Amino acid sequence: MSLEDMYKEVILDHYKRPRNKRELLGATASCHKTNPLCGDEITVEVREDGGVLAEVVFSGQGCSISQSSASMMTEALTGKDRASAASIARAVRAMLAAEAEPSEDELGDLVALSGVRRYPVRIKCAALAWDVLDEALADGTATGSAPH
Ligand code: ZN
Repeated sequence: MSLEDMYKEVILDHYKRPRNKRELLGATASCHKTNPLCGDEITVEVREDGGVLAEVVFSGQGCSISQSSASMMTEALTGKDRASAASIARAVRAMLAAEAEPSEDELGDLVALSGVRRYPVRIKCAALAWDVLDEALADGTATGSAPH
């Protein structure tokens, strides 16, 4: 099986059995965005607890790339603090922009998204969940709860 086929398998697996695709009670941040080029929709909800992304969930519909990226993102970021989450998000964006080779140690299943670099129109699909997360966390900071 070629690397490309393995990546396709990973993406299809997350598409068919999405992780953390549910509603979140007690979300501290959330955002919804669409990718009109493809008809993708993603909502991300986060429950932040003591600076850690204790729960990261998504809901939405669209192509396999957009939905599997969201599923993999929730797995990669759950339990991470903001700095680690930002670092993973940067690494994913660098990978999608072909600025850096992905590190499986850092990105896990997310390296499967490196296959979309050859299909520029799909890069927006892969980036959608990350754009939603960025905005959710930015808003979350602005309106976040008071410090303890
Ligand atoms: Zn798409």
